[in-house]
Amino acid sequence: MDCLFCKIANKDIDSDIFFEDEELIVIKDISPAAPVHLLIIPKKHISSIMDIDDLENSTMANILVTIKRIAAELGLDKKGFRVVNNMGPDGGQSVDHLHFHLMGQRKFTWPPG
Ligand code: 5GP
Ligand code: ZN
Repeated sequence: MDCLFCKIANKDIDSDIFFEDEELIVIKDISPAAPVHLLIIPKKHISSIMDIDDLENSTMANILVTIKRIAAELGLDKKGFRVVNNMGPDGGQSVDHLHFHLMGQRKFTWPPG
């Protein structure tokens, strides 16, 4: 399949890997929008959050627990951080493989642009 994040998960394309287990790969965003900008990506191809039923509940839980653990490890919990999932054109999704952004070490505004 011609999917960027599948290729990254399979190591067909190089990325700056922050963490990996059997289900997930966490990489540094190539174009960071904050001092910490990580992408939490399930290795199984899921196009977007609208196909979340195709993921095991335990994998989804692993995504959230991994985000929490990394946030704590990096000390982001002290001042706060942001977790983002963009879906579809209006949401600003540019890669059609489910991923969550973990962003921190700067103050974010609300509402987002
Ligand atoms: P989206 O816009 O779909 O929510 O997020 C996709 C993210 O993937 C963007 O923040 C973009 O900078 C990042 N990205 C795009 N191509 C690559 C790549 O080849 N490597 C890495 N590490 N990040 C990428
Ligand atoms: Zn994919």
